[in-house]
Amino acid sequence: MNKYLEDLIKLSKFDTAISMFEPKIENEKAKLATFVETAEAIKASINESYLEIDDIKSKRTKNNIHLSELKSKLEDIAKKNKDVQTEKELKALQLEEEIAKEQIEFANEEIDRLDKLAVAKEENLKELQEKLANEEEEIKDIQIAVDNAIEEINKERNVVYQDRSELLEKFDNKILTFYEKIKRWAKESAVVPVKKQACYGCFMKINDKTYAEVIKAEEIINCPHCGRILYKEDETEEA
Ligand SMILES: [Zn+2]
Repeated sequence: MNKYLEDLIKLSKFDTAISMFEPKIENEKAKLATFVETAEAIKASINESYLEIDDIKSKRTKNNIHLSELKSKLEDIAKKNKDVQTEKELKALQLEEEIAKEQIEFANEEIDRLDKLAVAKEENLKELQEKLANEEEEIKDIQIAVDNAIEEINKERNVVYQDRSELLEKFDNKILTFYEKIKRWAKESAVVPVKKQACYGCFMKINDKTYAEVIKAEEIINCPHCGRILYKEDETEEA
């Protein structure tokens, strides 16, 4: 095989590998991000629960104050009862007493309702806190796995960078410029294999004459359709 072509294939494979590292790292980070998002959502729910419980407690306090006011009102009414002079005054007091008793009943019902609601909210809060603890535990494990994976990727990347720069040390300048010109538009597919007599960059069939030249690999051959550099992969590699 033409030595320049051989170098070009190697360089192109390094460049393709290098272009894959960043997405791989992003992919690892994304794994963690979904768990962090879930944990943040749980934290928001927990904060909301605290606010709701506070609200219930302050409503309960207000009802308690109201209740004690009503009770002292009843005591007043009882005192006044002794000094009643007329039938009219008695009726007015009885009505007042009735209303106060109704209000007491209502306040007691409301306190009962608030207490039940508070219990339910506290239970829900406990569940959320357990969920968050589990999530944070998982995040710790995933963080370790992700850090390790990224470290491995970076190690691999360093090896490829090293190999690439070694290759470039003895690389022909004209060939490099030629490659980089194609790479400008073809990105990572500047050098592509021919499979089933088709260019694997543009997927067009190449004619028999060009195909024969590609197989010979004595020269650098460009795809007649798109201009990418073509090569024939070893049969074993292709399989
Ligand atoms: Zn092509």
